[in-house]
Amino acid sequence: MAGALCTWGNALEGGTEEALTLALRLSGERGSALNWMVAGAVAEEAQALAGAYGVTSVDVLAGEGLEELGPDALVSALAGYCAQTSPKTILFNQTLEARLIAPRLAGRLGVPVVMNGFDVRDSNDALHVTATAYGGDTHVVYELGDPVNVVSLITTSIVANPAETPTSPDVRTISVDLTGVEERSPVTPAAKTEGPRLEDADVIVSGGRGLGTAENYEMVKELAEALGGLAGASRAIVDDGWVDSSVQVGSTGKITRPGLYMAIGISGASQHMAGCSAAKTIVAVNSDPDASIYRYARYGIVADCVEILPELIKAAKA
Ligand SMILES: Cc1cc2nc3c(=O)[nH]c(=O)nc-3n(C[C@H](O)[C@H](O)[C@H](O)COP(=O)(O)OP(=O)(O)OC[C@H]3O[C@@H](n4cnc5c(N)ncnc54)[C@H](O)[C@@H]3O)c2cc1C
Repeated sequence: MAGALCTWGNALEGGTEEALTLALRLSGERGSALNWMVAGAVAEEAQALAGAYGVTSVDVLAGEGLEELGPDALVSALAGYCAQTSPKTILFNQTLEARLIAPRLAGRLGVPVVMNGFDVRDSNDALHVTATAYGGDTHVVYELGDPVNVVSLITTSIVANPAETPTSPDVRTISVDLTGVEERSPVTPAAKTEGPRLEDADVIVSGGRGLGTAENYEMVKELAEALGGLAGASRAIVDDGWVDSSVQVGSTGKITRPGLYMAIGISGASQHMAGCSAAKTIVAVNSDPDASIYRYARYGIVADCVEILPELIKAAKA
């Protein structure tokens, strides 16, 4: 039985190529096909990319009601797809929405689900999924002996690696029937940020509680702008009401993978690092030389960030 990666929406999210990389390796270990289920306008982009990642078949969902997929419709559409194609392992790139959908699909199918997975191996007829647990503080390996399972992937530690031999995937249209599906719960749309998204930014400057006051966060924004990047934040200052939750980086915020990540007055808690440890270079400013953030940072400035920020802004603008 094949494995299937599920993707939907208007455009491919960051982490898709990484999820495809893992899915391709898994299908290689099993000697099985890799199908990529897509729904919505993203189908076109997916078809252009699929061959590079050795996909066997791009399965495009068709049917009335697919244009505006709420969670209930999406779960029904995916369950309909699974009923017709019988994938063995159903994979998700763990976007904000996939966090809701993957467990609900598993519930609908009556199969096990592992969230926060980052490695998946097939051996001795069982699936071994390594996942983060306790907000990223530890790793757990789950052994799934069931014939069908759902795995949602955090892709920050996976390096995208296209197939050695690209394929020419089939494109199959899979019709799903959403008649009678009603959204049972009103969905509050996530706070919308104007312009570029943190998830796509190449430079991010994030501030934490070490800034001391909400006013000092203005300097974080100024530095981010001077570097042509975006400003992020730790959850501590979101919870304190200094900044909007849309800029929170971490396991319960945005998962980012910039070239440069500057952590200003941030301790480096595992839940924060889950959202930025895939950065190519981390620079930290923290007055405590023993702060955890220095375990991850390539460059560190042990100093009072309130004193050092004006200097950094001046240098960035020079
Ligand atoms: C289930 C769960 C999910 C979570 N999800 C997230 C998440 O998505 N994102 C997230 O960020 N957190 C998350 N957290 C919270 C996380 O555990 C930390 O509490 C949080 O990241 C701490 O934020 P902080 O580093 O800004 O604050 P603190 O932990 O208070 O650290 C402040 C740092 O600033 C330094 N400092 C103090 N004064 C100065 C100064 N003048 N100059 C320079 N440095 C200074 C200190 O040495 C310290 O290291 C989560 C927690 C849980 C339990």
